[in-house]
Amino acid sequence: MNRLGRRVWVVTFVAVALFAVYETIKTLLFPEMSVVTSHIVTVIVAGILTFFVSRYALHRYNLALSKIKEQQEITEETNRLLSGVLATMREGVLIVNRQMDILLYNNAATQIVRLPVRLPAGVPSERNDQDTSGDNLLPIAYHLQTPPLKRLIEVTRNPAIHEAFRQALEAHAQTEMRVEMADLEPRSFQLYVAPLGKKLAVGVFFDISQLEKLERIRREFFANLSHELRTPLTAILAYAETLLDGAIHDAENNIRFIEKLYKHSARMRDLISDIADLSAIESGKVKLSLAAVKLKPILGDVIALTESRRKEMKINFTLQVPDTLLVQADRTRLEQILFNLIDNAVKFNLPHGSVTVTAEEAGDRVTVHIEDSGIGIMEADLQRVFERLYRADKSRSRKIEGTGLGLAIVKHLVQAHGGEVAVESNLGRGSRFSFSLPKAVQQIETPVEKERLAISFADHP
Ligand code: ADP
Repeated sequence: MNRLGRRVWVVTFVAVALFAVYETIKTLLFPEMSVVTSHIVTVIVAGILTFFVSRYALHRYNLALSKIKEQQEITEETNRLLSGVLATMREGVLIVNRQMDILLYNNAATQIVRLPVRLPAGVPSERNDQDTSGDNLLPIAYHLQTPPLKRLIEVTRNPAIHEAFRQALEAHAQTEMRVEMADLEPRSFQLYVAPLGKKLAVGVFFDISQLEKLERIRREFFANLSHELRTPLTAILAYAETLLDGAIHDAENNIRFIEKLYKHSARMRDLISDIADLSAIESGKVKLSLAAVKLKPILGDVIALTESRRKEMKINFTLQVPDTLLVQADRTRLEQILFNLIDNAVKFNLPHGSVTVTAEEAGDRVTVHIEDSGIGIMEADLQRVFERLYRADKSRSRKIEGTGLGLAIVKHLVQAHGGEVAVESNLGRGSRFSFSLPKAVQQIETPVEKERLAISFADHP
């Protein structure tokens, strides 16, 4: 018998006992009382007794009700917090039962396996009219109490995932594995599956695609770096040996060999200084001295630096940048960004090709586009050209001078200014590199700068 049952018996027993005591006292005290008067008195006493018992019962009932309400509020709050945690988690979470039915999942899981982002039509959501920040949350209690929406087999066919959940449910064993998912978009995950009580299992998917990508880039960087350093070093050793073996006295060739030695040594120096520069920018050691600078004169200076190559390849240059356009940038670093992009646009161009530099303002940003009619970049290489030492079309790029670090430097410098880089390309038709910078409102011109601007305007109207 439970507590409530026992109480009912106790209350009944006490009431009967009280009534018996009352009857006895009444008979002893008033033996002469008529039956009618006795009944009237009994009814009045019973009424008073019933009133007090009902009041007591009502009081207990109200107490129990407020306790239930309090408990319900705690449960709702816990659910809300849990839903909040699950919804903001980047990791996908799935909870399944022994029948491999999915009882609960979070939004991140919908990006990994085929699960609906919202509740299917017709399923009432308890949260619809409440807190809209939880609009994308799945009500946990609801899912645990109602029939499941999907089975695991319906959302993924990956046998490793099924096996991991089976292990957790049947052998109560924790599993950790790497899974590749191609259901939605190709990504790799570290999956942890653990039993949750006796009847459920929870699986957490950690996205490791980015980590793996960075690891691949790092490996390739070191492989490329040793290749890039070994090539000039081998040439330097070979020319030095040839000279030592007597070519130093060969009046016809010695200067040519020394020139080669110089060229390869200079290449190594450029490579090492670019690497040092890049790691300084990446680690935040480079301090930018930001100021409002006019874009057009800087472009003029940079274009002048590419003149010999431009003339050699007969490249037609167009500059469409408003005279007054100001950006908030570090002048020297901006020159470096522009030089790398414009130099590439000339280097990877075709004879008699064209390069067009344009700039546009949008909100508080200025976007600069450097467009060329050159060799273009293959789709597969497009996002990788900003990686350190990555060269698209290796055989062709190697013939063209460069360290393979220019675009990586550009990307980091632009990001250090709070901007973004982008590239579009058509193989065989040309490429368009773009970068954005914060727009500046006023120009601070030093006298030296004024003089510099005058010269560059005169040179490049
Ligand atoms: P580098 O120019 O020293 O080789 P970058 O980092 O500047 O190194 O460029 C990386 C690679 O991106 C180049 O080797 C080239 O394959 C490709 N690339 C860059 N700019 C262009 C361009 N304008 N047109 C075609 N390919 C380009």
